[in-house]
Amino acid sequence: MKIILLGAPGAGKGTVAKLLTDYDGSVQISTGDILRGAVKAGTELGKKAKAYMDSGDLVPDQLIMELMKERLAEPDCQQGFILDGFPRTIPQAEALKGLMDELRIRLDFVVSLEVPRDVILDRLTTRRTCSNSDCQEIYNIKSNPPLPDGTCKKCGSPTIQRDDETEAAIQYRLETYAKKTSPLIEFYQKEGLLKQFASLNSKDTVEAVKKQLQA
Ligand code: ADP
Ligand code: ZN
Repeated sequence: MKIILLGAPGAGKGTVAKLLTDYDGSVQISTGDILRGAVKAGTELGKKAKAYMDSGDLVPDQLIMELMKERLAEPDCQQGFILDGFPRTIPQAEALKGLMDELRIRLDFVVSLEVPRDVILDRLTTRRTCSNSDCQEIYNIKSNPPLPDGTCKKCGSPTIQRDDETEAAIQYRLETYAKKTSPLIEFYQKEGLLKQFASLNSKDTVEAVKKQLQA
């Protein structure tokens, strides 16, 4: 499959993307995960991105496009991909369109995850992430907790609350989403690619997306 996942922070893009990779071996490409990995590894990209990320700001479009140009040209993308957290702005969506034409890639569709705001707020404040940059498993202290001592079930590393998941940073990320990312819904509607999914339960959403892929 070749799809884009759109949704507010906390809408469940990461969880849905991971579940979809099991379906046909398409790769999940999460710009957030790539950027956090780069920050942890202390690369040039990481150094440039860190301050934006910690304050809940978007990383500049140009940096993201350099990153994605390379990533989408890698051989594992030919089988299929799930874009998680990219594009995030109209300039990124337009640049992606050009890039897809260049690489002769056609998207199946764009999945928009629709989740009520109160659910989003609750999810973001209860989220914990594995601190191991090779793992980054996502937990929720209410619905999907890590081990009782707070460590990751998959790799045993401590789970943490991300710097951008404090109350203030969350508020700011939601505002940034409304301003810069939500216009993509109209953009992809006009492109005839948008499919909207009410998404309270990730497993149900994944089933609905699979059905749409088969249609
Ligand atoms: P979220 O939980 O908000 O969806 P992500 O893990 O996708 O978070 O991204 C974390 C941070 O990484 C964002 O707040 C932003 O600073 C940066 N980032 C990720 N993807 C992009 C992108 N496509 N464009 C700009 N910044 C991005
Ligand atoms: Zn882990």
